Amino acid sequence: MRVFYILLVVLFFEKSFAQNSLYLKPDRVFDGEKVWEKYGVIIKGNKIEAFDSFSNLDKSVLKDVKVIELKNCTLLPGLIEGHTHLFLHPYNEVTWDDQVLKEARSYRTARAVVHAEKTLKAGFTTARDLGTEGAEFDDVGLKKAIEDGLILGPKLLIATKALIATGSYGPRNFSPDIKIPQGAEEADGNDDIIKKTRNQIGKGADLIKIYADYRWGLRGEAAPTFTIQEIKLIVETAQSAGRPTVAHAATPEGMRRAILGGVETIEHGDNGTPEIWKMMVEKGVYFCPTLAAGDAILQYRGWKKGIEEEPERIKKKRVSFKQAIEAGVKICFGGDVGVFAHGDNARELEMLVEYGMTSTEALKSATSINADAFHIEKEVGRVKKGLMADILIVEGNPIQNISDIRKVKHVYKNGALVN
Ligand SMILES: [Zn+2]
Repeated sequence: MRVFYILLVVLFFEKSFAQNSLYLKPDRVFDGEKVWEKYGVIIKGNKIEAFDSFSNLDKSVLKDVKVIELKNCTLLPGLIEGHTHLFLHPYNEVTWDDQVLKEARSYRTARAVVHAEKTLKAGFTTARDLGTEGAEFDDVGLKKAIEDGLILGPKLLIATKALIATGSYGPRNFSPDIKIPQGAEEADGNDDIIKKTRNQIGKGADLIKIYADYRWGLRGEAAPTFTIQEIKLIVETAQSAGRPTVAHAATPEGMRRAILGGVETIEHGDNGTPEIWKMMVEKGVYFCPTLAAGDAILQYRGWKKGIEEEPERIKKKRVSFKQAIEAGVKICFGGDVGVFAHGDNARELEMLVEYGMTSTEALKSATSINADAFHIEKEVGRVKKGLMADILIVEGNPIQNISDIRKVKHVYKNGALVN
């Protein structure tokens, strides 16, 4: 009798082992850095068990492993979205001001749940959410619901509220006599900055996001916000708790202060200059250009892309982005999704190529470079033995045609099939 039970247990474990082991055989693998032909991947449980040539893997494969032939397909690491706002939706549907001021947080959360699922199903198994834009700490609960398996979504790195200098953000241009809720948390001066940084970390922030410049006051042009000393203090406070600080910055002076203050990534950077790019290379600061956001906003304002001449802002962005690449700045992938539709994250990949990167470089940014930049390279971002089995399989070859990244066939997150 006892032997019988032992046999049952053994059979059970063999069966579950077999169910959890997959041998994926695509035409090619992009491992996060380069392309391998006739290479396959074995997933065991939630991890990548092996990545090797078909000839080596075919020999080593146990007979219980399920082989999945993926003809005409490319296998990649699950993509990493570097700049999203799951609590926002496209501004041509509802303006940013109205989303912040008129949409109930329950409604925004319901939307965020849908946005998270769309992001994951588009092949983005990890995402850095850079601020709830007025939805308080609601990203904390969203992240937990995903981790608990209640809802579908990417692994999240969250910023919670983000920090702004008083008066510098929006919604703005209301009567100065009334107090308007803001899209991020105001903080100024030593004690206040330390307290609010710590509070955001305590509530669940994986990183601190600051706005180093913004369009403020009646003049409407972007101007620096925090002093270098304030930025240094935020960075130091966050760092002592093991959290990085990242900055929205588009003016040369805002970027300069953020870089000297010790931030790890600069978001947008539209007016970066050769001096600024050089400084970023020297300090090892990553640049997340968010090309798709500007492209979307200008079209919402009436620009007919492909028909009309490119607006001045786009022409300038092309120039500054090219300068950054030529200077050797490390490029993060992140589109500022939310400005445009969640699930359409690939738009930024297409634009990186349109603005001068090769598809291989763009895909590196969306995988290994983002993993390195966000300190998650020991878990995700590459096809490598021992990393989590976050895998994207697309039809076609995105190395030759970047838009093939949209032809999603399968997404695996932690070894489990999502779609
Ligand atoms: Zn953003």
